[in-house]
Amino acid sequence: MTDSSDVDLAAAVPLDHAQAAEQVRQLTDRILELRDAYYERNTSLVSDEEYDDLQHRLAALERQYPDLQSQDSPTLTVGGAADRSSFAPVTHAERMLSLDDVFSIEELDGWALRTQRALGDTHFHYLTELKIDGLAINLRYEHGRLVSAATRGDGVVGEDVTENVRTISAVPFELAGTGHPDVVEVRGEVFFNVADFHALNTRLADAGRKTFANPRNAASGSLRQKDPRVTAERPLTMLVHGLGAWPDAPVRRQSEIYQLFAEWGLPVSKHNRVLDSLEQVHAFIDRNGAERAQIEHEIDGVVVKVDELALHSQLGATSRAPRWAVAYKYPPEQVNTKLLDIRVGVGRTGRVTPYAVVEAVHVAGSTVRQATLHNQEIVKAKGVLIGDTVVLRKAGDVIPEILGPVTELRDGTERAFVMPEHCPECGARLAPSKPGEIDVRCPNTRSCPAQVAGRIEHLASRAGLDIEGLGEVAAVALTHPLAPAHPPLTTEAGLFDLQLADLFPVRVQVTDPETGLPKLTDEGEPDIRTPFRRLRRRDDPEHVPDGPFDGDEFAVPSELAHKMLANIEAAKTRPLWRLLVALNIRHVGPVAARSLAQAFRSLEAIRSADVAQLAEVDGVGPVIAEALIEWFTVDWHQEIIDRWTSAGVVWGDAEAAADDVPKPLAGLSVVVTGTVPGHTRESAQEAVIALGAKAASSVSKKTFAVVYGDGAGSKLAKAEQLGVPLVAAERFAEFLADPQGVVAQVAAQSADPAADGQQQ
Ligand code: NAD
Repeated sequence: MTDSSDVDLAAAVPLDHAQAAEQVRQLTDRILELRDAYYERNTSLVSDEEYDDLQHRLAALERQYPDLQSQDSPTLTVGGAADRSSFAPVTHAERMLSLDDVFSIEELDGWALRTQRALGDTHFHYLTELKIDGLAINLRYEHGRLVSAATRGDGVVGEDVTENVRTISAVPFELAGTGHPDVVEVRGEVFFNVADFHALNTRLADAGRKTFANPRNAASGSLRQKDPRVTAERPLTMLVHGLGAWPDAPVRRQSEIYQLFAEWGLPVSKHNRVLDSLEQVHAFIDRNGAERAQIEHEIDGVVVKVDELALHSQLGATSRAPRWAVAYKYPPEQVNTKLLDIRVGVGRTGRVTPYAVVEAVHVAGSTVRQATLHNQEIVKAKGVLIGDTVVLRKAGDVIPEILGPVTELRDGTERAFVMPEHCPECGARLAPSKPGEIDVRCPNTRSCPAQVAGRIEHLASRAGLDIEGLGEVAAVALTHPLAPAHPPLTTEAGLFDLQLADLFPVRVQVTDPETGLPKLTDEGEPDIRTPFRRLRRRDDPEHVPDGPFDGDEFAVPSELAHKMLANIEAAKTRPLWRLLVALNIRHVGPVAARSLAQAFRSLEAIRSADVAQLAEVDGVGPVIAEALIEWFTVDWHQEIIDRWTSAGVVWGDAEAAADDVPKPLAGLSVVVTGTVPGHTRESAQEAVIALGAKAASSVSKKTFAVVYGDGAGSKLAKAEQLGVPLVAAERFAEFLADPQGVVAQVAAQSADPAADGQQQ
C-alpha cells in the first residue's frame, strides 16, 4: 500500500502519554489534510481504506488517553466544510450527521446488541439500505415546492446548491399529490449511476478533458459547480435516504416515510428492505456484497437503521453520528498505488497491449501487481504517467483497472509512456492492423514466439484439444526457451512430431504471470527451470540407468514430459470440431466449430465449400465464412494441416462416434450464470452443448432452464421474473444425468414452494 503520509501507520507498540500526544497531533493533521482534499477539492489523496484506518487509529488512541481528545477532533466532527467563497451558506434546520461504520459482521452484531440493550425489551425492526457512494443533500420543500437544496458541509452549515440541484431530473421541483406539510426536509444522496459515469468519462476523454477517478468524486465535483449549466450537462441522479426537519411527522416508521415520499414523486431506492432479524440483515449484506457489480450505482456498504422513529429519539446521537444507524462497509474495491512502469504484452493474435506494473497492493481479496491499459489511447485518456500514484480498481473477479492518476501527488519525476516501435518478443516492426486503427499489432503472425505460444496454449485448452500438461508454462517453454538455441516449436505445425529428445534440453526462465517480469529465486538469481526433465540421484530406485548423465545425478524425463506427450498423442483422434478450434481460425470457437463439423463432417469438405455454403450453416454466418476462406489461403496454415495429417491426426472420423451419444436437450436452450463448482463457464456450457442444448447467453421465455451459481446476477432475476426453471449449480451433475427430471422437479417446487423447505 502506498503510504504518502508522514504518519507511522505501523506503530502499534504501547505509547507513553507524550508519544501518544504526538501521534494524535500527526493523525489529526493528516486526517484534516485528507478531508480538505476530499470534501473541498473532490480528490482522494489516499484510498478510503487508508483514510478509515487513520480515523480508527486516532479513535483507539483517544480511547486509551481520553484527555487527548479535543472537542474538534475528527472523531467527533462531521467531515467537510461549506465553501463560502463559491456558495452561500445554509444553516441546516437539523444537523446533517455522518454514520458510524463497522467493517465486520461481529462489529455489526456488537452495534445491534448495544442498541437492543439501550432499548430494553422493546422490539424493533431493521431497515436495511444500500450505502450509496455519492454526496449527501438536504432538500427543503415548503408547501410542496422545492425552496432550497444544500450540501452537508460540516453538518451544521452547508452550501446552497439549489440552482444546481434544479438541473437534476430525479429531484421533483413540485411534489406530487396534495396535503403536503408546510415544511419538510428530505435527505438523500446525489450520485451517478455507473453507466452514466462511464459515459461522462468517455465524453470528457473524447473532448481531451480530465476524467474522474471515481463516481463519488465525479458527483461531488459536478454538483458543486459555480455554474449550474455545467451541472446540467452531467447526468446526476438522486435517491432519498432520510428525513430532516418535519415537525409532527404523521408517521411512525422510517419505511413509512419512504412510502409517503414515493407517493410525492421523490426517488426511493428499490433495494430498501424492512427485516425482522439480524440473520436476515446478514443475508442482505451477503447478497448485495455478491451482487455489488450488478447494482446500477456504486455502493460502499449497507446502512442498517432502526425503523421505528420513536426509538430514534430514545437512542439519540453523538456529535458525529446517530446511534440508531450504522454503516457496514464492504472491503474496498478501489485503492491507491504507485505506477512503476508501463510495458507491452503481445497476445495470441499479435495485438500489442500496454499494461501497468504497479506496486503490489491488496484489493478485493487478492494482491494486484499488474493492470490492463488496453491501448495507447486509453493510456493517454487516463492521463497516467510512469511514477504516478494511481487509483486502481478491482471489483470481484473483474480484471484490475487503473482509473486515473492522483495528480496532486506528482513531484515532476514522472514520465510519459511511449509505445515501442518494435515487437518486444520478436523485433518485428509494429503497425496498426488497418490504417487509422488505434491497436497496433506484431505482423509476424507465423513465428513471433508470443503469438505461437498463445496459439499453442489456446489449441491445448479445454475448449480446444484439451491437452492436459500443455498449459501456459509448457507453451512458453516450447516456444521461447533459454536453451536449446532453436525452440522445439517455431509454429504449431510441429506439435504432433514432438519427441522426448526435443523436450529434454529445454531450459526456461520463469516469469511472474502477474507482472510479466523474470522471477527471481530466494537467492536473487533468475529462476531457471527444466520443466521436461528431473534430476535424480544415482542411488534413486527410480533412476533410468541409460538417461543422460549429469554429474552425480541422472536426468530423467519429468512427469510433465510424459504426461504431455501422451496427451498430445491422444489428441490426434479428437473430434473434428475440436481440431477446428485448435487451428486458431479467427472467430471460430467451439460453437461455430461444432456446427461446421456437423454440417460438413470432414476438413476436406469445409475447405472445398464456398462462402455461401459456409455462411448458410447455423451459427456460422458471412463473417466466419470469410475468415475460414481466408485462413485456408495462407501457405503456412496449409503446412499445419499437412504436418498434423502426416503425424496421424484424424480429421473427422471420431466425430461420427461422438454424434451417436444421446442428446436429451436437442433443440433446447440452457443458460449458465454464476459459478458452477468444478467447472469453468466454458466447460459448463460445453457439458450442456454435449447433450444437444444451445448454451444461450440471454434468458427468454423459451429458455429451457437457467443453471445458476454464486455471483449470478441479472440473468437469474430475469429468469425468476419469466418463470423459467432454475437449477442450482450444486445440482448441475444431477441435471446433466437427467435434465428433464430435474427441471420437472424444480418446476413443481416453484409452483408449490411449501413442497421444499429450502425454497422461499
Ligand atoms: P460516510 O460516507 O461513511 O457515511 C455517511 C454518509 O453516507 C451520509 O452522510 C450519507 O450521505 C451517506 N449515505 C449513503 N447512503 C445512505 C443511506 N442509505 N442512508 C443514510 N446515509 C447514506 O461518512 P462521511 O463522513 O460522509 O465520509 C467518510 C468517508 O468518506 C470515509 O469513511 C471514507 O470512506 C471517505 N473519505 C475518504 C477520504 C480519502 O482521502 N480517501 C477522505 C475523507 C473521507
